[in-house]
Amino acid sequence: MKTNDRHSYTKSSGISVEDKQILEKINLNVPENAFLTLMGPSGSGKSTLLRLIASLITPTTGTIKYQGRPQSQWAKPQYRQAVSYSVQQPTLFGETVQDNLAFPFIIRNLDFDRSRAESALDQVDLVPQRLKATINSLSGEEKQRVALVRNLLFLPQVLLLDEVTTRLDSATKSCIHKLLAHYHEQGLNIFWVTHDESEIQAADQFLLIKVGHLEA
Ligand code: ADP
Ligand code: MG
Repeated sequence: MKTNDRHSYTKSSGISVEDKQILEKINLNVPENAFLTLMGPSGSGKSTLLRLIASLITPTTGTIKYQGRPQSQWAKPQYRQAVSYSVQQPTLFGETVQDNLAFPFIIRNLDFDRSRAESALDQVDLVPQRLKATINSLSGEEKQRVALVRNLLFLPQVLLLDEVTTRLDSATKSCIHKLLAHYHEQGLNIFWVTHDESEIQAADQFLLIKVGHLEA
């Protein structure tokens, strides 16, 4: 879906936990159709920044706006459907792959659409029969693919990726890259935390964060 001329985010925020300042003076404006990569040393606040944008935590100072409206004015379910957060070690739940792929339908009060789920699996090179596979039988690679499919069955406006390809094999990496490039072309905004050189080069724009500060 295209969302022309609407801001994804404006923020000028900080966050502190028990008096420890984790991020400060973050001022960032992300335009439409972004493919943004965030890099920085371990502990510099990358995950914290993504979790703030995902509305999983709240800044202690400042505001985060999405499409011109502060996060606090959005209903959480609506916000989370628009801004989807994906992590390196995804949690799959229930017993089977299907339990996970049914979830995005359930929260939207829709019937599970098997053929849609199967073609989504196909996009990450998983055969339709994997729908019935138990979670425990999946490799780490397959879990990551299933988690991404779960996030992308209904396309969000913004996809936040926190080191999702770290430690994945090159086949899975390139499969995920292809998938993301495809959706980015369709207007998906991507905000990506990565250490991977090739991913850094693929980004339209990258940002560097060092101990809680964004650098140009
Ligand atoms: P990165 O993702 O860049 O490795 P994080 O955002 O995970 O960094 O963490 C940034 C800093 O904030 C680290 O010093 C970390 O210890 C601290 N931190 C992160 N989350 C919490 C938390 N829930 N409570 C206390 N400190 C935290
Ligand atoms: Mg992190």
